[in-house]
Amino acid sequence: MPGFHIENFGCRAARADGEAIAARLEASSCAASNPHTAEVVVVNTCSVTAEADREARAYIRRTHRRNPSARIVVTGCYAQRAPDELAALPGVAAVVGNSHKALAPQIAHNLMRGAGVESDRSLVRIEAMKSAGNVLLYSDDTFAHSFLEEAQVVPGAQTRPNLKIQEGCSNRCTFCVIPQTRGNSRSLLPENVIAQVRGFVAAGGRELVFSGINMGRWGRDLPPDPAAPRTLASLVRAIFEQTALPLLRLSSIEPMDWDDNLIALMRNYGGTRLCRHAHLPLQSGSDSVLRRMHRRYRPWHYAQKIESLLAAAASEITFGADIMAGFPGETDAEFKETLAFIRALPFGYLHLFPFSPRPGTRGWALHQQYPVPPQVVAERMSLLRSLAEEKMHAHRAQFIGRELNAITLHTPAALAQSGQTAALTENFLPVEIAGTLPSNTPVSLRVTSLTSQSTLQAIPTDPQHHSLPEPLSPQDLLVHAFPN
Ligand code: SF4
Repeated sequence: MPGFHIENFGCRAARADGEAIAARLEASSCAASNPHTAEVVVVNTCSVTAEADREARAYIRRTHRRNPSARIVVTGCYAQRAPDELAALPGVAAVVGNSHKALAPQIAHNLMRGAGVESDRSLVRIEAMKSAGNVLLYSDDTFAHSFLEEAQVVPGAQTRPNLKIQEGCSNRCTFCVIPQTRGNSRSLLPENVIAQVRGFVAAGGRELVFSGINMGRWGRDLPPDPAAPRTLASLVRAIFEQTALPLLRLSSIEPMDWDDNLIALMRNYGGTRLCRHAHLPLQSGSDSVLRRMHRRYRPWHYAQKIESLLAAAASEITFGADIMAGFPGETDAEFKETLAFIRALPFGYLHLFPFSPRPGTRGWALHQQYPVPPQVVAERMSLLRSLAEEKMHAHRAQFIGRELNAITLHTPAALAQSGQTAALTENFLPVEIAGTLPSNTPVSLRVTSLTSQSTLQAIPTDPQHHSLPEPLSPQDLLVHAFPN
């Protein structure tokens, strides 16, 4: 069987793309392998920072050194932003931008079969494909081949896989290159989302993660439906009413897209079928910095959303946020506002990024005029890291002695050898459970302690009985989907 390896970089939505490419290759009789022996290595890149670009280039060079006969297919945001740059790297056989990502599995498959350029020409109109030396380049700005969700999402390598329901972004935050690398916002059709969820449940899946680039905008690009508004809240409600999905997790949603209807769903389903976990990108707690970033909320709007979600889901909810340090012109006073703002809110974790100027963005031009010196950015990152650790420890500590529901993960070998099982709670706390349990098992547990590295330890209280509903059989599903 021809072997492939996929290396994913970047956000959850990018990982969902990588999982979909793997599922489609496996469905066409290719086997997942390791990067040292695979015939084709797919490098699914991110380009959100200069560091992300550098990591992707380093990985490609390393792969070529260790496995010189591998044919490397580069896809993702970097492949869209700078295809020629990647085509010049050793070992690269094809560069497939996000505009043509849906074709990446077929292109990789053709390379594994040793098929030549002609078979690839049949995939797209010839003018959409260029050739740089021996490297095939697929990338344009129409994004006509960018959705990958034709392959059914099933539990496998990931016990809690992603379903990307939305692609691209129509906002124009001044620091962000994503609208260029992924195009404007587009939504997966609701009937396709529901079919995917039903297929996932029928395959024994328990927790599904909805992801997107700007997921809160789901539905805005679809034709109006008189029967139901095209909003994320209406889609989530349809999932709960028309499928038997035990547990749904929503990944990142912009603060202002947490509207009253979505918050009401958190109130009604939080902790049973909807995970009490909300990731609201913040970026800065300073009003003036948010304005320069062209973010669509003020700090007080953000705080109100957190307050409403807390009232809906109680203190079990875990909040996460993205924070950026060193946006052009960020003063000490503005940074202190951010620190104070974060300190006042009940975050369970923070994703921290130094500002990185991306060519073609307004932030790039601002950086030429008002750069924040690198050592100042480094100091701010260090202060943010300490605060993030403090917040995470405090959030997790409140669960000692409490009972939570979780689903077991694929346990790393070292942990399994020590007689423990890795799991993730419904409210997004990683735990290590005493005892050995298979992956994808729902378990009720009691948290016993928190280590100095902020790892929660737990004991199962009743692995057999968990408050999540059991998945229905395919026969039950039919009845559930089409009730009398
Ligand atoms: S909302 Fe802003 S930061 Fe997020 S993808 Fe869109 S432009 Fe980028």
